[in-house]
Amino acid sequence: MTEQYVYSFDNGDGHDKKLLGGKGANLCEMTQIGINVPPGFVITTKACLDYLQEDQLPAGLMATVTDEIRKLESATGKTFGKGPDPLLVSVRSGSAMSMPGMMDTILNLGLNDETLAGLIEQTGDARFAYDAYRRFIQLFGKVALGIADEHFDEHFEEVKTRVGVKADVALEADHLKEISEKFLNVVHRESGKDFPQDVMLQLQLAVESVFRSWMGKRAVDYRREFHITPDLANGTAVNICTMVFGNKGDDCATGVGFTRNPGTGENEMYGEYLTNAQGEDVVAGIRTPKPLQSMQQEMPEQFTQLVALRNKLESHYEEVQDYEFTIEKGTLYCLQTRNGKMNAAAMVRTSVEMFEEKLISREQALLRIDPELLEQLLHPSLDPDNTIAPIATGLPASPGAASGKCVFDADLAEKLGGAGEKVILVREETRPEDIHGFFGAEGILTSRGGKTSHAAVVARGMGKPCVAGAEGIVVDVNLRLAHVGETTLHEGDVITLDGATGMVYPGAIATIQAHFPDELRTLLGWADATADLKVMANADTPDAAKVAREYGAMGIGLCRTERMFNASDRLPIVIDMILADTEEDRQAALDLLLPIQRTDFIELFSVMSPDPVTVRLLDPPMHEFLPTEQQLLEQIDTLRLYRNVVRGRQTALATFNALAELPKPFNDLSEELVNEALIKKERMLKKVRELQEVNPMLGHRGVRLGIAYPEIYAMQIRAILEATMECAKNGISVSPEIMVPQVITAQELATVKRTVDKLTSQIEADFGKPLKFKFGTMIETVRACARASQLAANVEFFSFGTNDLTQAVFSFSREDAENKFLPMYNETEILQDNPFEVLDVCGVGQLIEMAVQRGRAQRKDLKIGICGEQGGHPESIRFCHYVGLNYVSCSGPRVPIARLAAANAKLREKEFVATGN
Ligand code: PEP
Ligand code: MG
Repeated sequence: MTEQYVYSFDNGDGHDKKLLGGKGANLCEMTQIGINVPPGFVITTKACLDYLQEDQLPAGLMATVTDEIRKLESATGKTFGKGPDPLLVSVRSGSAMSMPGMMDTILNLGLNDETLAGLIEQTGDARFAYDAYRRFIQLFGKVALGIADEHFDEHFEEVKTRVGVKADVALEADHLKEISEKFLNVVHRESGKDFPQDVMLQLQLAVESVFRSWMGKRAVDYRREFHITPDLANGTAVNICTMVFGNKGDDCATGVGFTRNPGTGENEMYGEYLTNAQGEDVVAGIRTPKPLQSMQQEMPEQFTQLVALRNKLESHYEEVQDYEFTIEKGTLYCLQTRNGKMNAAAMVRTSVEMFEEKLISREQALLRIDPELLEQLLHPSLDPDNTIAPIATGLPASPGAASGKCVFDADLAEKLGGAGEKVILVREETRPEDIHGFFGAEGILTSRGGKTSHAAVVARGMGKPCVAGAEGIVVDVNLRLAHVGETTLHEGDVITLDGATGMVYPGAIATIQAHFPDELRTLLGWADATADLKVMANADTPDAAKVAREYGAMGIGLCRTERMFNASDRLPIVIDMILADTEEDRQAALDLLLPIQRTDFIELFSVMSPDPVTVRLLDPPMHEFLPTEQQLLEQIDTLRLYRNVVRGRQTALATFNALAELPKPFNDLSEELVNEALIKKERMLKKVRELQEVNPMLGHRGVRLGIAYPEIYAMQIRAILEATMECAKNGISVSPEIMVPQVITAQELATVKRTVDKLTSQIEADFGKPLKFKFGTMIETVRACARASQLAANVEFFSFGTNDLTQAVFSFSREDAENKFLPMYNETEILQDNPFEVLDVCGVGQLIEMAVQRGRAQRKDLKIGICGEQGGHPESIRFCHYVGLNYVSCSGPRVPIARLAAANAKLREKEFVATGN
């Protein structure tokens, strides 16, 4: 069977966008449902691919095109290439994916000297005819013959200047006639040939040029930028459509419409039109169009038709449409329709309202919104009219926009922020001990570190904007300034961050506040009722838990207890615990920490009551709670200098025998105090050196710490269990879960479990009541995946820690990868995505799948979730649904996105295919 390359609008399949392109398929569909579309036909994308492959049009194509033209002639009563009523056509590109303005279009094709005369006679409007001709010659010259616009514009401008008019509409027929003649000369001069008078040749050249525009630089760049792969769109179709004119008089008009307001989603007639104008005049902004509503007075009959058109489009496509229309001598034609692009607020509102109007189902209401789009509604964004140029660029590590004064250390950020000042914490990189600075700051900027660096993860958890790894910034904490190229930022200078783009701007730029509309609440309620996956939050403080609750978190899937250790009132006690040389000393410090942790848990459990709170026992290596060796060496140096000053002062004072008369505080500056501080710092330095590891993230951390120092885990377990009892005493129903990090063997779990069991018996005896909680493990090592069945025998739940698991599977350190080679790997498509953001379903995912199967084979009711960063990413969530996880856990502000993604994963479960390289 020979390939069918051409379909008339009457018989093309309106669903086959890959073959007919989006525009062509919709023109066919509209024609077939009775919408008034000018007659026309589509040449398929397959014809385009064959043309590009063979460098010539497929055999017989132009003969079929000629047949279709004949059909247009009989449908319209016009003749192609002849008067008295010449048929003119538009030749438009259109691929399966919308690529606005990237490919070519030619209008008024079919004009030549003969049909021009016919057109003048038939319309009695020479001005209109010459205007159409000059537009056609220029467009055809440019698109089909490759003649640059300047060659034409030069003559056009010259006539306008000579006549003394500014606007094109002020030119008369004679001027346009003169311009057309000059344009014909330009074509002759630039192409070495006469402008083709044979209209079939015009058509052939136009079709070929539209096909070629698929491989034009603009189109190729656009496809690369927007990841339009051949799977999504391959080749462009060509739509050949009878021209109708909106510029044949005052009973003519042309316009564009949206079936609903794309800015707000409101159900209203929305769009603009111009009377006596061509489509390009509306788009080019030469004349100011009027809102569609004005048509009600100006052309009432056509307005009624337009309302009917809009209703028909929406009810047929079950989606908001963006359409173009022309009114020629009182008759309304629809020239194009496609799904409308809208902002997040409009998408959400239209989803809910279209469901309520019974236009779409709940499933459609959920599926039509890309979950990532919700980000717009959850964070403040920069005023889009801002024209200030950025001074630096980093990684867009946590969305949102904020302005504030630069401060270079966490203490000052906390102090100024606490006093109500807006500050941005600027650091080379942040460490756990900077946490209090995060609370005080509006946003975080670092010059090192990737999207999963400490700064990025913590900022995302708090919903604060963060730009990470802005390598152009050199921070000098001592001088309290930062160099950014030529610019110097002093402490107190105001800057603005855009965490969605990674841009850093000088000064304050207005931001648009986020708001969580009621319709989003409704929509997410439907999502929860649809999804199998539950959505939990990663949250470490009662405040973060409250935020997560507002976003609809169904519990806490990961509470990293080390973050609690870093609060400024605890850190000194934690340091004492680490410095302790004996078990008793360590226990003394832990005894001080116990009540603090217990209170933390009571608060956290209460906020989340009655939903689960998964508390992870201490994970990071101990050195993270201590200053660095370098910092300690500097502090010790300073203290020694200071001791000399104190000694000198004491000697001087003794000489003057005046010590007794000095005021008290001065008197207290004794050498002993300095010595005491020095001894402590020297002990810390010794400890830091003892704890030093070549690769601490693969060293003494996680459960390995818990086994080496059982009293630390015991304190945390006791705090969790006692908090559970306290809550129960107060009638608060809680569901705590104890989670062990970095596990590789069942024996590790058994060791921790013994402590859990011992403490459970003690506490149950003390309180006289049974305890209810779950015991589980993180799965974040490769070995844990392999030994999932043995691990499952010891626990009630698994939580995949895909941050560490990804590092382990790739043998990448995430910070180094994101800063050094990952961008290059992504650009060259060696790796499709950043695996620390998008779950690597083909690699890491395979291990997850295996661990899920092995775990569940051992324990059928094993609860399984994910708490790595990828748990908030929609495509990764689809995979989690596919492998049968029970929940995903992500930072609080991503919870709404994950809720919608979980519903979409369920609704599209049959289509899931794991992709990657
Ligand atoms: C993980 O490894 O995925 C995880 C959640 O733990 P962390 O990021 O704290 O190492
Ligand atoms: Mg981890």
